Amino acid sequence: MTTLPPPDEFYAARDDRTNRLSDGTDYRDTAILVTGERDVLSTYAGRVAARTTLNLLSRFARNVDVDFPPVPSDDELAPAAPTLAEQCVEQMRAADPHGRFSCTRAPDPSAYDCIVAVGNADLQAGATPVIRLDGGGWLARVVRDEPVEPVSSRDENPVGPAVAACLGGAEVFKTAVGAAESALTEAVTYDAFHHEAHEACVEPTTPDLPSPIDLGTVRMVGVGSVGSAAAYFLKRLPVEGTLQLVDFDPVELVNLNRSPLFTADHAIESASKVEATAEFLADHMDIHPFEGDYDAFTASNPEAADVVLPLANERGVRRSIQHDRPPLMVHASTGQSDVFIRRNIPLKEPCLLCHFPPDTAETDAACAAGEAPAGDSAEDGGPDAAFPFASFLAGCFVAAELAKLPLDNYPFAKPVALVRTLTDLDGIGAVMQYIPGGDDECPFCPEEYPKVHRDAIEGTRFEHLTGSGE
Ligand SMILES: [Zn+2]
Repeated sequence: MTTLPPPDEFYAARDDRTNRLSDGTDYRDTAILVTGERDVLSTYAGRVAARTTLNLLSRFARNVDVDFPPVPSDDELAPAAPTLAEQCVEQMRAADPHGRFSCTRAPDPSAYDCIVAVGNADLQAGATPVIRLDGGGWLARVVRDEPVEPVSSRDENPVGPAVAACLGGAEVFKTAVGAAESALTEAVTYDAFHHEAHEACVEPTTPDLPSPIDLGTVRMVGVGSVGSAAAYFLKRLPVEGTLQLVDFDPVELVNLNRSPLFTADHAIESASKVEATAEFLADHMDIHPFEGDYDAFTASNPEAADVVLPLANERGVRRSIQHDRPPLMVHASTGQSDVFIRRNIPLKEPCLLCHFPPDTAETDAACAAGEAPAGDSAEDGGPDAAFPFASFLAGCFVAAELAKLPLDNYPFAKPVALVRTLTDLDGIGAVMQYIPGGDDECPFCPEEYPKVHRDAIEGTRFEHLTGSGE
């Protein structure tokens, strides 16, 4: 492919995975207005929330107007533009050149099916549903049809605003497809530090974002939707260190529905995923792209990793990674609308193969045991289907988890947290944490050769989490 395909062809590929999962396709032509409060959009948190929201919407909605006060653009992420609104629209056109995306002033709210407001914009919404969002620190707040309590003034942490945008995007999708009333979230505060949801606007005690966040050498295995989303949000964080990127795939149109980083040009040029991501993160981290599979990568004698992000879903990859006796691992996966964020502290917590037993389908061991709902892949939607907001959120959670690593007393949650994005987020079971079941037969849990693993991770940056084992 060397030119942009016509709309029907473009969307057939771009929306394929979303369509396999969605009950309807009304999301495509829903008319959406995104507006914002000047005082919020003038902050770093507000810019992150606005840009993430519009990037996410451009991955499924084709008809979006932006009505922002003329605040300055965001100088952290391209493209350059005079105002934040123009910048957002340009970014949306890069993701979907066929979309109807434009700046507007003094719009008629009744002309839209759904309105998203970053903060509390002046708005006579009438009967049109309004999703208001705000984020600050590690907290995200999303409220339906009522004013949103401000949290954006907290600090320069992008995590809360980015999570607010992802959860707000999920609420827009529910509205667009006419989800049942019981699935709508009236109000939620998502605490991305502890992975807990609250209906009230609570302010749990959380530490400031570390700065700089020195990660040493991070190895990302798999730069697909979740990996590229993690890379996108890493660019928002003051991270330092080396990032190894391992993937053999080129960007295709089917990837554009849920990666915030890949553009239509990437797909047209069949850019490699690692090169597109390396270019995006250039000047931010020391990037080592490797276009090939994991076995070829390890055969290339790479620098030892301090953290491994196993984000590829081919079964053999997980087995190979675990067999290499990895250091700390952080990973996330999506199953339709479910988002799992997972951690493995070596020799202390259930290993990668206990999260994903190799002899079974791509589901979590705990799911098989009936302890938690649906696992890593969508049986109805094929092995690689998830909603746009799920992949965005999964990537955001990976970046957020990396940001917590330098903090004293890490970790702050159980090894697995699950967010069921298409349910009422404040409802029972929408957010849960658990420890995956270990397999008695697992060759790594408990470790049959702990000394081998201990030697393998010796000197890595987060070795202290494992402890001496005495
Ligand atoms: Zn295990």
